Amino acid sequence: MTGLGIMGGIFDPIHNGHLAAAEAAREHCKLDRVIFVPAGNPPHRLSMPAAGAEDRYLLTALAVAGNPYFSVSRVELDRPGPSYAYDTVDHFRRLYKPERVYFITGMDAVLEVESWYRASDLMSLCRFIAVTRPGYTIDELARRVSREYLPMIEVITTPGINISSTTIRERLRTGRSINYLVPDIVADYILKEGLYVN
Ligand code: ATP
Ligand code: MG
Repeated sequence: MTGLGIMGGIFDPIHNGHLAAAEAAREHCKLDRVIFVPAGNPPHRLSMPAAGAEDRYLLTALAVAGNPYFSVSRVELDRPGPSYAYDTVDHFRRLYKPERVYFITGMDAVLEVESWYRASDLMSLCRFIAVTRPGYTIDELARRVSREYLPMIEVITTPGINISSTTIRERLRTGRSINYLVPDIVADYILKEGLYVN
């Protein structure tokens, strides 16, 4: 494998913003594969995910099923303890020995990267692809992230999709439509199982 992208997240639930960001990174960096990795126990969250790990995993699998470049991994769900990007990147480097490894994030997440577990080691294992996200400017990157890390971060400018999982959960709680914000098959499963209604 030459180019591998790893897209970490809580995916509570996955939405079209995640998918569009991963697709933009895949195209820009000419990746052979993007692996979506739902977090088991996210270390950066004050509250627990709203949906269970198995439902978040299944929704992610449904969302990526139609894209031949995309897949989903259980590695963080099956690993005990907090889900650290460092462990995940290290796992996939050993497994596939790709020439290039990228950790894909949105602009909001990359701003926090210095607080991540073993940040400097992580930065030596892979490059970061930060996809623009409405509400977060590129200027913030230089202000919030140390200069030594900036060369490891590549920003991809996209039209931007203003969708968050928080918005999706809020819409479901208040009985509103999530059509066209998530893949149809994701919406169908969420509604069938009654996820996120309370
Ligand atoms: P929440 O509102 O619960 O925080 P979220 O939509 O931010 O959910 P996460 O699972 O927290 O989704 O994010 C996983 C990764 O996807 C992060 O790197 C985040 O920056 C990125 N991401 C999420 N939504 C978008 C979007 N609309 N555009 C670009 N990147 C996104
Ligand atoms: Mg988020």
